[in-house]
Amino acid sequence: MTNKMSDTANISKITHGSTEDGRGIRTVVFFGGCGLGCRWCHNPECIPPEPILMHFENKCISCGQCVKICREVFGMTAEGIVIDRTKCDGCGKCISHCLGDALAISQCKMTFEKIFEEIEKDKSYYKYSGGGVTFSGGECLMQPKMLKSLLKKCATEGINTCIESCFDVPYEVIEGIYQYVNSFFIDIKHMDPDIHRYYTGRGNGRILSNIRKIFQNHGDITFRIPLIPGVNDSMENLEKSVDFVASLKGKSEKRIEVLKYNDLAAPKYRSIGRNFVNFGKPQSDDELSHLKTHLNSLYENVKVI
Ligand code: SF4
Ligand code: SF4
Repeated sequence: MTNKMSDTANISKITHGSTEDGRGIRTVVFFGGCGLGCRWCHNPECIPPEPILMHFENKCISCGQCVKICREVFGMTAEGIVIDRTKCDGCGKCISHCLGDALAISQCKMTFEKIFEEIEKDKSYYKYSGGGVTFSGGECLMQPKMLKSLLKKCATEGINTCIESCFDVPYEVIEGIYQYVNSFFIDIKHMDPDIHRYYTGRGNGRILSNIRKIFQNHGDITFRIPLIPGVNDSMENLEKSVDFVASLKGKSEKRIEVLKYNDLAAPKYRSIGRNFVNFGKPQSDDELSHLKTHLNSLYENVKVI
């Protein structure tokens, strides 16, 4: 399963120099498209499988260039620019004419060679910091052919690899790639299948089953629980999540990271014309400290960040 020059993947962005997506300094490749649709997703522009036009109001200077370029999609009103995204085919022509640098397309098609070129740029940082490349999204496992080719190439070149995933894919996909992956970050969103379905669009049965299987086969897995106020932050749900991880049998050390809520994704929601749901205030330092003490009393390897 190797990629040809003509093969492409939908990539939302590639960032350089991350220190939050695994060990050391990392390049992060965000794949487009995800099977879930978590209402708090921090990368909502990565959820659909196709490109969406992004418009950042704070940068828009109402110059009207976009209206001249694409009358089908843009209109000018007294309140500013209005956009009909249903008419946009993602050609990207308006972006280079935008005087405020206020427009972007959420994803583009990239070849294997182009993606690997970006990864290779940071090779000296990987060496110096113990870093590597992290494949994220969206859901990188939803484009397994390109992902596998990139993972194999990184393995050949001695580049450390990490995958950030929600694991809601057929297990055969995971089975096809895990031998080329150095470490995984896997999200646990809620232990109740109905609540999980309500907030993400899908139940958690396949995810938990995949986690049990990969745990028997891989030695470096970290579980992440993003705290969403009023959704999954009850002590009952967190205890169940920790118990689930503690009960896993297999090769990996059991590590859990509980992540403080934030509302930093709000501008991204506005940029794609979606309402941002603010689930509440971020947890206070006192609340996080109490949580850490309690969860550590159940299981020692829980970090609260
Ligand atoms: S990306 Fe193309 S179709 Fe979409 S608004 Fe811009 S010029 Fe129009
Ligand atoms: S071209 Fe850019 S800055 Fe000008 S009105 Fe359109 S979106 Fe705003």
